[in-house]
Amino acid sequence: MTMISSTVPVGASFAAGSELDWAQSLVPGLVVLDERVPPNAPWSGVVAAGQVLTIVDVGGNQSGDCLMYNTADHEERYSVPDTLTWEQNAYVSTGTVLRSSEGRPLMTVVGNEIDRHDTIGGACSKESNTLRYGHHVMYHHGCRENFLAEASRHGLGVRDLVSNLNWFMNVPVETDGALGIVDGLSAPGRRVAVRAEMDVLVLVSNCPQMNNPCNDFNPTPLRMIVVEPS
Ligand SMILES: [Zn+2]
Repeated sequence: MTMISSTVPVGASFAAGSELDWAQSLVPGLVVLDERVPPNAPWSGVVAAGQVLTIVDVGGNQSGDCLMYNTADHEERYSVPDTLTWEQNAYVSTGTVLRSSEGRPLMTVVGNEIDRHDTIGGACSKESNTLRYGHHVMYHHGCRENFLAEASRHGLGVRDLVSNLNWFMNVPVETDGALGIVDGLSAPGRRVAVRAEMDVLVLVSNCPQMNNPCNDFNPTPLRMIVVEPS
């Protein structure tokens, strides 16, 4: 087993005894970035055109909320309606092209070890948590607060946050059209790999939600690996 230095703080919030699998890049290549994202924390990185980002669901059933921007023009950003309309499918899976607000490909899913990912359920926030689960959860930050904090490092703010994608999150569309937020389909070490079709700024919130099963009530780390494919 190869050990790399971990950026996950000692005492991070996952339960003692949680199974963690830090799996390697899903596609072979020269590693240009390899970072570990603590539970509940945000992350960002630039993936250059042609490079492939692997996201590892280290502890299983951990939602990685994600936004993407054209690095040359942040006004061009991930668009849920463009992506769903072009794909004519409600889920994100192998082969899905993630489109921008201009309809252009930002990233393509080139490898995937779970059935599907969600891009309808949106991100949790302090406000929606309070509405759904009660006033006592207002001091618990959500993905929106993570996005805002990380976005500010790139000169982005509230008006730049749009509907997002949720890696590893299971939001089934029921036969009557209803959305469920239910226990995940993922497992420790499962991965998804996305190839950048232009230079893309990727923001991720390692979801801190503890009030519904989207993180299996046990927020765990993610691992982000970017390779120049060989
Ligand atoms: Zn969240």
